[in-house]
Amino acid sequence: MTGDQREKFGLTVTGMHAAYDRLAVLHGIDLHVTPGEILALVGANGAGKTSVLRAVSGLLRPTKGTVKLGDRDVTSFGAEKIAAIGLAHVPENRLVFPTLSVDDNLVLGGYVRRKDDGFERRREEALALFPRLKDRINLAAGALSGGEQQMLAMARALMSEPSVIILDEPSLGLAPKVVGEIMAALGILRDTKGLAVLLVEQNVRAAFKVADRVMVMDRGKVVAEGTPAD
Ligand code: ATP
Repeated sequence: MTGDQREKFGLTVTGMHAAYDRLAVLHGIDLHVTPGEILALVGANGAGKTSVLRAVSGLLRPTKGTVKLGDRDVTSFGAEKIAAIGLAHVPENRLVFPTLSVDDNLVLGGYVRRKDDGFERRREEALALFPRLKDRINLAAGALSGGEQQMLAMARALMSEPSVIILDEPSLGLAPKVVGEIMAALGILRDTKGLAVLLVEQNVRAAFKVADRVMVMDRGKVVAEGTPAD
């Protein structure tokens, strides 16, 4: 365990329902990710995987059920407060700030925490995980390859030193080698930092290589659950 002395906590979702206006899209989701574990959430397009992540991170208010970070019920909290408590959301399409440098993107990721609170250490740790970013630290983020932008989106999320990290299809559109690097980084975060990782993936083969457990979603429900070997 390097640097970060904060105790890690997991994520627990119980009986969660959610809707867009009147269109119900989640129908009673239960899931738990412990510190030091990767849970992969897979399923067809439109199954509701992205909606689970949005409901967990405070971007979509659940209509029923609870979301807990450790023992703390955060169901009614907004996204900013949930991020400050220790959940980092890496959305689909790696939304980096394209005109800002790699370094400035990291600085923005760090604002969730006080700047004097181990800021340099956090930046060094995030860059150590993705050495390629170090070589490109002063480049505009928009000039990076897709894989590098995904790495930057993850590094920026790590700047808040989260306990729980949730990622939406980080492998989307990337070459197999880069996908391998990204999955390996998730394994390192689990093993060395004890993060609880909730990973939404269509690339089942890549997700299964690193995941400890898998849940399959269909039409807003979890329909199967097990280990990748199952
Ligand atoms: P994908 O892999 O295609 O992103 P998904 O499993 O992540 O699929 P969601 O994006 O969570 O699924 O979508 C679940 C359902 O919610 C779908 O029927 C989708 O059409 C609907 N939906 C998603 N976002 C919205 C929105 N902003 N407004 C209305 N309906 C939405």
